Amino acid sequence: MKTSNVLFKGGQVLDPVAGTITVADVLVQDGVISRVESDIEAPGVDIVDCNGKMISPGWMDMHVHFREPGQEHKETIATGCAAAMAGGFTAVACMPNTDPPIHTRDVVEFIIERGEKTPVDVHPIACVSREREGKELTEMSDLTEGGAVAFSDDGDPVYDAGLMRRALEYSSMLGKPIINHMEDLSLNPHGHMHEGVVSTRLGVPGIPGLAEEVMIARDILISEFTGGHVHVAHISTGRAVDLVRDAKARGINVTAEVCTHHFTLTDQAVEDSSYSTAVKMHPPLRTDADILAIKEGLRDGTIQAICTDHAPHASFEKEVEFIAAPFGIIGLETAWGLIGRELIRPGVLSVIDAVRLLTTGPRDILGMPNPAIASGSPANLTIFDATTEWTFTEADIKSKSHNTPFIGSTMVGRPFGIYNREMLWLRESVTAAA
Ligand SMILES: [Zn+2]
Repeated sequence: MKTSNVLFKGGQVLDPVAGTITVADVLVQDGVISRVESDIEAPGVDIVDCNGKMISPGWMDMHVHFREPGQEHKETIATGCAAAMAGGFTAVACMPNTDPPIHTRDVVEFIIERGEKTPVDVHPIACVSREREGKELTEMSDLTEGGAVAFSDDGDPVYDAGLMRRALEYSSMLGKPIINHMEDLSLNPHGHMHEGVVSTRLGVPGIPGLAEEVMIARDILISEFTGGHVHVAHISTGRAVDLVRDAKARGINVTAEVCTHHFTLTDQAVEDSSYSTAVKMHPPLRTDADILAIKEGLRDGTIQAICTDHAPHASFEKEVEFIAAPFGIIGLETAWGLIGRELIRPGVLSVIDAVRLLTTGPRDILGMPNPAIASGSPANLTIFDATTEWTFTEADIKSKSHNTPFIGSTMVGRPFGIYNREMLWLRESVTAAA
């Protein structure tokens, strides 16, 4: 897989910063882009035919669960990275609800090192609190020095407002966001799907949108008070989008991401699938009105990143009654195909805007440098198109777990390969020739 020199020939080079698409060849030498021009000749160098395809800076999913250390039967960093590659991602940020959690520097360094064997940069998000218990802050500056890119107790909210205040005061000194799983647990003691007409009809205990919105409102106030950066994980309701939009308009340091499933499916999927546990996730699938509001939030920049919340669970864990099943679905392999189907083809977003939500969007939130397709830049690239129609099957799953509601679904747009840190990964349908 190590390929230090390679010529990407004839692709449409997409620059999310300039907002341009230009047909050009991209020559990589020793892992660094040396030329971006038309008709480059480079005898002896491997060629990747990119005709009819696009090349953009490598994509990033800022919200995944890779389960290692501790739950390797669900996913390992190696299998998670394989899923990321198949999805066109050269970078992920992984959540700290592992066992042990990412609450000490040795765990941060272990995860980074595991990722270095693949072309996917694995950026750990460290815990806000020790043991994710919501009581005592972690050693944030030590974790940052080890390579943590943000702090979160995801899976659970930072429930204690005083802890959130102190976390934001420390993290702002380090220039890192606090990513909060927005949920006031007192408003959701035991729900399993969105609280609404469908949950009432089915008799399944619901999770109201209010549980998310109350916590976002609280965190906006604490952000305003401290100046710290609050990032809203997996936003799911229209009212939540409104809260973030209003806070941004008032200059408050708040950002938001949305998962692919939250603009694709509604709570009706629970009934339609006869209680499939593959449509049980946290936050739950909401309503058509919420999807419309999320699309508007993506269009107007209220939401700056699309993520997957890739949450692998083994079959034996998910093949139980709906109310007994764990929350979460895998998402890396289907992310772009759903973005193409739900956002690009219907005209909600242009290809450039969609790519921004996977490149400059998440990296700006995390304060990370954006890879450029320009001579002198380290080559960090994704090759894709936004038009190929394909059917997602079990064979497309590279994750160790198969918990997804999208098997058999039509996808629009396909990632064909990635290049990062002198490593090339190509889908079988794409050939490299010397
Ligand atoms: Zn969460």
